[in-house]
Amino acid sequence: MRPYLGANMQSPVIPSDPFSSPVQYVRGIGPKKSAVLAQFGIRTVYDLLLHVPRRYLDRTTIVTVAALRALASRPPSALAVDEETTLRQEYTVVGEVRSFRVLGVGKKSRFVLVLADPTGSLQCLWFGGVHYWKQMFHIGETLAVSGQPSFYGTILQLIHPDIDRITPPAGEGEADPSGTRWLNTLHTGGLVPLYPSGQELVRVGLDSGGFRRVIDAALHTYGDALPELLPASIIAARSLIPFSRALTSVHFPKELDELQNGLKRLKYEELFLFQLKLALKRLRTKTDNEGISFSPKSRLARDLVDSLRFSLTRAQVRVINEISRDMESPRPMNRLLQGDVGSGKTIVALCAMLIAVENGYQAAFMAPTELLAEQHFATLSHLLHGLPVTIRLLVGAQKSAPRRAILGEIREGSAQIVVGTHALFEKDVEFNRLGVVTIDEQHRFGVMQRASLRGKGSNPDVLVMTATPIPRTLSLTLYGDLDVSVIDELPAGRRPVTTLLRSDGEWESVAEFVRGEIRAGRQAYFVYPLIEESEKLDLKAATVHFNHLQKEVFPGFRLGLMHGRLPGAERDDVMRKFTSRALDILVATTVIEVGIDVPNASVMVIENAEHFGLAQLHQLRGRVGRGSDQSTCIMMTKGWLARAAKRVPGREADRLALDQQRLAEQRLAAMVQTTDGFVIAETDLRLRGPGDFFGTRQSGIPAFRVADILTDTALLNDARADAFALVENDPLLAQSDHRALSLHLRTRASDEMSLLTVG
Ligand code: ADP
Ligand code: MG
Repeated sequence: MRPYLGANMQSPVIPSDPFSSPVQYVRGIGPKKSAVLAQFGIRTVYDLLLHVPRRYLDRTTIVTVAALRALASRPPSALAVDEETTLRQEYTVVGEVRSFRVLGVGKKSRFVLVLADPTGSLQCLWFGGVHYWKQMFHIGETLAVSGQPSFYGTILQLIHPDIDRITPPAGEGEADPSGTRWLNTLHTGGLVPLYPSGQELVRVGLDSGGFRRVIDAALHTYGDALPELLPASIIAARSLIPFSRALTSVHFPKELDELQNGLKRLKYEELFLFQLKLALKRLRTKTDNEGISFSPKSRLARDLVDSLRFSLTRAQVRVINEISRDMESPRPMNRLLQGDVGSGKTIVALCAMLIAVENGYQAAFMAPTELLAEQHFATLSHLLHGLPVTIRLLVGAQKSAPRRAILGEIREGSAQIVVGTHALFEKDVEFNRLGVVTIDEQHRFGVMQRASLRGKGSNPDVLVMTATPIPRTLSLTLYGDLDVSVIDELPAGRRPVTTLLRSDGEWESVAEFVRGEIRAGRQAYFVYPLIEESEKLDLKAATVHFNHLQKEVFPGFRLGLMHGRLPGAERDDVMRKFTSRALDILVATTVIEVGIDVPNASVMVIENAEHFGLAQLHQLRGRVGRGSDQSTCIMMTKGWLARAAKRVPGREADRLALDQQRLAEQRLAAMVQTTDGFVIAETDLRLRGPGDFFGTRQSGIPAFRVADILTDTALLNDARADAFALVENDPLLAQSDHRALSLHLRTRASDEMSLLTVG
């Protein structure tokens, strides 16, 4: 090991537990960096150490200048990034500094360094920061430089290469700890880690190079203090390497084998700890209270189904049967209802609620926003028309007198179905006999709220609806306690929405197409993303845009504007007009993302589509194609894609921009290629990574930092089997070999545990 804490370094007392030590204690991280890291959820040394590389540069290939020249002369594909493996091929050249100078002035200034080996010479080029670079080098010193080569005329160049100094700069001896950066090859040669970063991180120096330095420091200081949590028996049975070695292997692998072993260990541990918590949780729920046993025969539900102008799909019928069986059983129902946008989840939920009502209980229906609660209330009221059922809406915006009246009806039980937001579960809302709770989460999960509603009744049945299709086995593994029903069939007669990608240059032909659809009696949505820093600016932009559409693009047509800040009454008014065809075009911010149901609307134009996430785009598109007309979704993009392509590929910030661009391109491509929500969800999962996809905070599922629940299924199953066996044999984790685990769960993982106990 190289000397790390130099004698002259004023080191604070270094706390020994990496789980609790603030990341600020790591050498090279001050208050500024740690504040930014905290925004990304990296608070402790442990968090930092588990900030694992997103991919690696393969610089195991050290080449001569001549060889690099030959490589760079080949067509670009020879140097292409391999996105499938996580390796990006770059080349490393070792040579001597021949000359360097600054060219140009001001913004145009750049730093050029000529590096030579016996086979030839090349230019290293940096834009900006010339004064910094100017003092970094010495003629005659040896450097290793890594990057992807390009040509400027016949000059071979590496733009913004990463460098390592092979000989120390004059005056800096081996003993000087501040020289460490130059004395070892953190950045070139071998497999070089690239870290997930972002503009904010890059701004405080935490680009991949910065992460390599601070993680290197953290490993040196804390490496030995990292506890081994896994029992020796499991380590042996699954051929795992020790935890601390795994960290080094993953951050600074010398070769692919080592990297793979390290990754396996980190992934296994992460999955195992998660499954262990699930196993302990399930153990506890075995002693849970009894729930309600409903009689599943419901006249009301049958009357509802008979009153529909369509018949239920087979999938809807199957799911209603699954739910009825749950409701009949005395065990409290805890069911996840999955179904793509437009698959008809609302009616299924309503049937469940009617079973409860028929049995003399109340039903609560919870939507994620007030707007949606209002829409659901309208839809449900409409469906219930003619049935002897009292339905009420409870939202925060209501005046106090009507609110009091509704609270009274809820308390005495005459409000049989109550629709609202999470406000339904505030203290002043008392249900008389709450029997079933339906939660419409669309594409979010909300394990959190399930807790508080438990307290509202004597263990009501819970049905959670989501439009996020998760592979069935996966959801069963993730939600040990949740049963899953899937509506895997769309109502007959639906035609897949035609999806097109257009640039702003094609605006006029898009507008003309929309005019044609409206003249043919149909309606259109224009969706405008919120992209400004402040909501105020956003609304201004949306309003300006609306006026432009009305005056310049669609004069003579009837347009309405809708956004989240519009008062409820005005929103209702706009919605009512659009639904009754008094408006041709609804211009909206994403508030129409979910729940809106206007079958006559056949066109959706999504502006600045690159700003939207994939799940969001899919939800938006789900607003059209709800009738029997052929519908079209047009995604517009700005010149943005072209702009991003012009950036310098070597610079970290630009690499990130390019990554963003590539992701956006892939999202849009997925939208064009398929309307299958299942495929979309899997693509989304792949592009975003599962942590982000599930939205940790709402879900209580830890965002896996290392493991990938899509591709690491085999490891997940092993970890699950091991964890459940362990809890079976030693439910109190009392055996000496389980003490580290027990301590870990009790002292360090307490937040996550409390999250998990509520479900
Ligand atoms: P989601 O699953 O997205 O919540 P909804 O419940 O809002 O879907 O249903 C979408 C639309 O399809 C609604 O207009 C609804 O009335 C209609 N619908 C539901 N089930 C059927 C069916 N079996 N056949 C035809 N239309 C249906
Ligand atoms: Mg719905």
